[in-house]
Amino acid sequence: MTLQDREIIYRIQTLKAKWGPELMILGHHYQRHGIIQIADKIGDSFGLAKAAAESPHVKHIVFCGVRFMAESAAILCRDDQRVLHPEPEAGCPMADMAPMDSVQFAWDNLNARSDLGGRCLIPVTYMNSHAPLKGFTGANGGLVCTSSNAEKALEWAFSKGEIAFFFPDQHLGRNTGKAMGLTPEEMPVWYPSKPNGGLESLEGVKMILWNGNCPVHMKFKVRDIHFVKKNFPGSFVAVHPECEQDVVDAADAVGSTEFLAKYVRSLPEGSRVFVGTEVNMVERLRIENPKIKVELLFRSLCPTMYMVDLQKVERTLINLETEDPVPMPSEIKDPARLALERMLALQN
Ligand code: SF4
Repeated sequence: MTLQDREIIYRIQTLKAKWGPELMILGHHYQRHGIIQIADKIGDSFGLAKAAAESPHVKHIVFCGVRFMAESAAILCRDDQRVLHPEPEAGCPMADMAPMDSVQFAWDNLNARSDLGGRCLIPVTYMNSHAPLKGFTGANGGLVCTSSNAEKALEWAFSKGEIAFFFPDQHLGRNTGKAMGLTPEEMPVWYPSKPNGGLESLEGVKMILWNGNCPVHMKFKVRDIHFVKKNFPGSFVAVHPECEQDVVDAADAVGSTEFLAKYVRSLPEGSRVFVGTEVNMVERLRIENPKIKVELLFRSLCPTMYMVDLQKVERTLINLETEDPVPMPSEIKDPARLALERMLALQN
């Protein structure tokens, strides 16, 4: 960390002290080290949004992450809370792969098909999606899921309708479907650029996967795991379920960011583990677990997460009362919240 970073951290701590319990800074696991140092809570996007909404004294929520995360906090927050995003331009390439006009076109196309045969489509949307898609999901009887509860969400969807429509990460959908016993034929991909999404028949289909992916997790390849297993016998490999199916199949463990952190902590002292997720999180796991050899499976940085920096957080804190909060109109917030509440009900 540079001297300039340390000076900004000092100034941020002074600003934080001024606001006391009315301010909460949230830092996603994939944020850089300096941001994690000034965050009040560190975690995954849903856990952070929920924690802020449930904190009775918090009025100003500063979300250090990408836009869909700040939007999720704005969906869940109370009316007396405002959510600020230090870099509104920091989006998520995967969320961008499911724009609402393409989703609506696919939905209308599928519902008009004769081979749907009266079966009901249920939308299931990963947390890593734009707020309007979450709203669409809630308005059409579906729910949101995280990488921890995707299987529970799909079980719920299958109990409500015959075909789940999973947005936007095809890999999380496919990995979860496979773990539930679905075959590749039962979970084809909808390609927005192809006529009829490229789906010739819906016969035997149980889940339709949207053609989205996380470019950060697509960088991990099965050859990286073969290399590690050959050259570091006895080592472990743990990856995120946004990785491709062959990567997930070859790994020793797969799970959400929270799972990966717990998995590394649970390993015997002296173990060597290669972790396949965003580089900032892996490097922090290395610092937090000095008795474990934590290695990068491959160096993969999320460039939009990296757009949030200490200078932007300081500017947001200086302008805390005047900076525009993340916009969340009620026509999106209400159905999106419904989709999130359906997910929350699964956990109770
Ligand atoms: S890591 Fe992937 S899913 Fe997460 S913000 Fe970056 S691009 Fe989006």
